[in-house]
Amino acid sequence: MHTIDYLREALPRHPELRETLELHIALLEVRATVDPPAPPSLPLGVAETRLAQGEPLLNAVTLTPNWNDLARIFTGICNAAAAHRPDEADALRELAKLADNPDELREAITEHLANRAHPVRRPASAVPGGATLLDFTLNQTLHPFLSAYARAWQSLASRETWYRSWCPICGGPADMAALLPAGGARQLLCARCDAEWQAPRGACPFCSETRPGHLGYIASQDGAYRLYTCDTCRRYLKTIDLRELARPVQLPAERILTVGMDLMAISSGYQSV
Ligand SMILES: [Zn+2]
Ligand SMILES: [Zn+2]
Repeated sequence: MHTIDYLREALPRHPELRETLELHIALLEVRATVDPPAPPSLPLGVAETRLAQGEPLLNAVTLTPNWNDLARIFTGICNAAAAHRPDEADALRELAKLADNPDELREAITEHLANRAHPVRRPASAVPGGATLLDFTLNQTLHPFLSAYARAWQSLASRETWYRSWCPICGGPADMAALLPAGGARQLLCARCDAEWQAPRGACPFCSETRPGHLGYIASQDGAYRLYTCDTCRRYLKTIDLRELARPVQLPAERILTVGMDLMAISSGYQSV
């Protein structure tokens, strides 16, 4: 099932999340209006060499989105968000003007991709901190373009060829995770392209901290959700424990349905990716 259908179905069951779900349904509707061309095929040997060096596969090619499509989606995302977030509508309408200036938009995207790359791989000059409104809208805008690569290339990365904390496709950080039913291995979901891959469970996925005293987690009452926290980098990871659930789960939809965990983490002083 597509994320948008999953959210539409969840809407009547979650009146407390109505605003969040309606916002994300509107954003997904905008994202669905672009159909990026299929990414080039990547020979297995090239992919394996890249991955063995710890390089995400997108570094092997230059991302060349259609800039007109991108500007159109960016405008649509800003307008949809403004319609659902009255408090930020003025700021979002101001941001939308970026689409009128292709050079500036291109520059903002390049900077966004560098800043939002996995923290371990960020350029030293990048400013640390939580996502801004611009990051949010750019992440939404780029999603259809990046996820086309994830769909085409995800099968090139396996647990044998990639067992790291950043995305094997685009190098992005995870913003959702699952513990898999058999054995509880950690499956991560990329915040930027929705690729899923396995990574070590005993390490912070953002700063590689492994000392137990610096890592913690809080479980939900029913045991189905865990909020993993790291006191070294002050980041958190929302996780759904599939060993505790009989129902099918779609991680991109769970990312949105668990917005309450984001609020809890942020109010406790942790940062989102
Ligand atoms: Zn990714
Ligand atoms: Zn950390």
